[in-house]
Amino acid sequence: MREILHVQGGQCGNQIGSKFWEVICDEHGVDPTGSYTGDEPSSSDLQLERINVYYNEASGGRYVPRAVLMDLEPGTMDSIRSGPYGQIFRPDNFVFGQSGAGNNWAKGHYTEGAELIDSVLDVVRKEAENCDCLQGFQVCHSLGGGTGSGMGTLLISKIREEYPDRMMMTFSVFPSPKVSDTVVEPYNATLSVHQLVENADECMVLDNEALYDICFRTLKLTTPSFGDLNHLISATMSGVTCCLRFPGQLNSDLRKLAVNLIPFPRLHFFMVGFAPLTSRGSQHYISLTVPELTQQMWDAKNMMCAADPRHGRYLTASAMFRGKMSTKEVDEQMINVQNKNSSYFVEWIPNNVKSSVCDIPPKGLKMSSTFVGNSTSIQEMFRRVSEQFTAMFRRKAFLHWYTGEGMDEMEFTEAESNMNDLVAEYQQYQDATVEEEGEYEGEEGVEENYES
Ligand code: GDP
Repeated sequence: MREILHVQGGQCGNQIGSKFWEVICDEHGVDPTGSYTGDEPSSSDLQLERINVYYNEASGGRYVPRAVLMDLEPGTMDSIRSGPYGQIFRPDNFVFGQSGAGNNWAKGHYTEGAELIDSVLDVVRKEAENCDCLQGFQVCHSLGGGTGSGMGTLLISKIREEYPDRMMMTFSVFPSPKVSDTVVEPYNATLSVHQLVENADECMVLDNEALYDICFRTLKLTTPSFGDLNHLISATMSGVTCCLRFPGQLNSDLRKLAVNLIPFPRLHFFMVGFAPLTSRGSQHYISLTVPELTQQMWDAKNMMCAADPRHGRYLTASAMFRGKMSTKEVDEQMINVQNKNSSYFVEWIPNNVKSSVCDIPPKGLKMSSTFVGNSTSIQEMFRRVSEQFTAMFRRKAFLHWYTGEGMDEMEFTEAESNMNDLVAEYQQYQDATVEEEGEYEGEEGVEENYES
């Protein structure tokens, strides 16, 4: 058994985390009481074979999510508890305070959150001790607020200290002014990135800017709600974790996923994409062929991060197809994309694109595909946050909220330069060619669009 321990923190983390559990419970045939009510006998083996990766088996054969829920205020967790799957979680694993973090990273990381962190760690430790051979952790949080962001990264650093050889994956929601109107979000996000660079192994970037654009432009939702954004997120999370939850060869655990995707340890922020894109309730009408899925999953419009892969190059990428389809056709289509767009893949990592097929499709779809790419173009998103950060920091605007919690201005300066370094590193590898002294291959000669 190679178990994963899931932690969700803050409003956003708890909202996307509980959607994730709803989706995977459905896929594994687990009902809201934790009972297995599997589909057909034929699929039950697949549904249950690796269920222990995410669930504990309690007495009476009930499946209980290996999940810890934390927050600095009770509101979001109250609604989860009274929601459709509220009863499935272990009641002792809800850890919450009353103070709130007021969108202040310092409160989450140094003051209010630091007071609550030991109670969270106690629950984490208890879950970890129950595991046969824990492979690692996944944390769901936003980076723009105070709790998921500040306390989330505090927890990540504490876990790293206590479990240095376990993997740490995050689903991190990056802030966008299109979705939120709290001005200090770039501060909170930058301080978090500073932590994630050092203490996380792999980060799935979920960028509210891109999620909003997908809802607005592609799905034609005129006023997207968090529910709409979270629908995209939960589909993506289900896709990314599919190879961890169902039997298969490729990326079958957190470490293998990391080994394939991370050529340099700091560059572990992934662009994720999903096809077909659907809005809540509409998914039953969409059916695609393998070539269509392949074309869409590589399309910039399907990426959950507001960065255009055509502005950079792929260091590595991985594609997970789901449903009944021909593996041969998948391989052909994937090779085809790479051949026609070879300038978008660094040539100094041969075979840097992997694909796999999982028989079980997500609910409501016959087929889907999920894309995880390590693209140098992700620097565009970091640049966007960095510009917003610097505009305020130059004038020291809003700093008193942070120094008031005991933070030093120096930490802001360090976080800012760490993120700028990250951007520079992506640029360096974007420009690197096979021969060390090779000339920089510029934009010319690069095809305008992906062809499939
Ligand atoms: P916390 O409770 O202190 O961690 O704060 P929040 O999670 O509310 O953090 C605020 C940031 O998260 C802002 O960038 C919001 O736009 C974003 N956010 C809050 N809730 C959700 C959600 O349910 N879905 C998404 N996609 N973003 C959210």
